[in-house]
Amino acid sequence: MDFAIDPKFDNLKQMVGWLGKDKLRPLGIEADRQGHALPSDHPFFKEVLAMGLTGGFVGKMKDAAPRADDDGRVRRTNRRAVVMAEEAAYWDRGMATSLPGPSLGGPPVMLMGDAEQKKRFLGIFKGTKEPHWAAFAMSEPGAGSDVAGISTRARQDGDEWIIDGEKCFISNGARASWVVVWATIDPNLGRAGHRAFVVERGTPGFSVARIEKKMGLTASETAGLLFENCRVPVANMLQGSDRSASGKDGFVAAMKTFDMTRPLVAAMAVGMGRAVYDESLRFARENLGGASAWRMDRVRDRLAWIERKLEMARLLAWRAAWLADHKRPNATEASMAKAECARIALEAASIGMDVLGEAGGASDYLIEKLFRDIKALDLVEGTGQIQRVVIARKLIGFRGDRPLKSSKGEADV
Ligand SMILES: Cc1cc2nc3c(=O)[nH]c(=O)nc-3n(C[C@H](O)[C@H](O)[C@H](O)COP(=O)(O)OP(=O)(O)OC[C@H]3O[C@@H](n4cnc5c(N)ncnc54)[C@H](O)[C@@H]3O)c2cc1C
Repeated sequence: MDFAIDPKFDNLKQMVGWLGKDKLRPLGIEADRQGHALPSDHPFFKEVLAMGLTGGFVGKMKDAAPRADDDGRVRRTNRRAVVMAEEAAYWDRGMATSLPGPSLGGPPVMLMGDAEQKKRFLGIFKGTKEPHWAAFAMSEPGAGSDVAGISTRARQDGDEWIIDGEKCFISNGARASWVVVWATIDPNLGRAGHRAFVVERGTPGFSVARIEKKMGLTASETAGLLFENCRVPVANMLQGSDRSASGKDGFVAAMKTFDMTRPLVAAMAVGMGRAVYDESLRFARENLGGASAWRMDRVRDRLAWIERKLEMARLLAWRAAWLADHKRPNATEASMAKAECARIALEAASIGMDVLGEAGGASDYLIEKLFRDIKALDLVEGTGQIQRVVIARKLIGFRGDRPLKSSKGEADV
């Protein structure tokens, strides 16, 4: 496997490093202390756009969804994206996901939208000086891991669809220009009844119920969304390339989205683990007696453990990205990367707190925030347990590409 990245790309990575040090980290800490994300009209978002970075480094992988005009060339988009995601999350993962761009809303439009829908919904992000966001609304109060069990309903009425239901923990949901909303046209159909609709801000019946209070990743705003008799035109339904398909396109596209974004989340966990390492080492040098502390087993062995595991974790994320660049199936590898990288980062944060001793729990040290941020990251796009369920299903539950048995209510996210 070739993990080499285009040398031109180094400049971009360096730019993210500067942005991270100057803005992402301090603004992330500020958001954490204030208990809410930066408002959408904060000048920082326009500054980022002016640097030409929007949708570039965190959104790249999401933009790499298969395209109708794909020429079959191997691209390095996914490998670049994991490198940038790690770098941005090193400075602040919450801020990294708050940057303007289509974010998780992008892949379903790329995967299932027709040319007109792609132009209409993704066009607003191209060459704009005004920040825009999009969102992906799958989770519900009664259906987080068990996405097959979503209860948001969509009923057709002439040339409109009427959506009713509630979504929760939707990243950038309150500031999004549009949201991809997953709903069922018939709960008895299970996954086959899933459809995706683009609901634009300002559509009557669509409202923001609340901004969620989270333990970590405060800089990344998550919202509860309500859909009450919300009418969207038929043209806003993402139907997939095969409009006469059995109806599984919706669910499959949702899962494909995660195949693309889980390696990114995994790489972000590695970046956060790196921050834990650097903060622990800095503390040890400054507070535990300088060089002699390095000789102390307690510090040396623990930091060596973190470094070793992060190297391993990074390779898992890169492998999943490499497979995506080569358009090979990567669902198992993406889940392995997400499960392991988040677990290792969380363990690293716990070890980092041990290195700091009682200072580890104090909010004046970054480790405490990193610990909360990493725990929150473990939940995003499927918890560690759910990744393990997905991996086990892929390895054991399937023979070749044929399922041994199908099960309703399967936990996939
Ligand atoms: C910061 C953040 C951002 C998010 N952004 C989005 C977003 O943009 N869009 C969106 O749709 N959602 C989003 N979510 C929601 C996220 O996807 C869900 O929180 C996640 O899928 C878990 O669902 P749940 O919270 O309902 O937990 P539950 O599904 O209720 O699970 C509770 C616990 O049970 C475990 N569990 C559940 N089922 C099984 C099983 N079969 N086997 C073993 N263990 C199991 C889980 O691992 C978990 O520990 C976000 C969440 C967070 C924290």
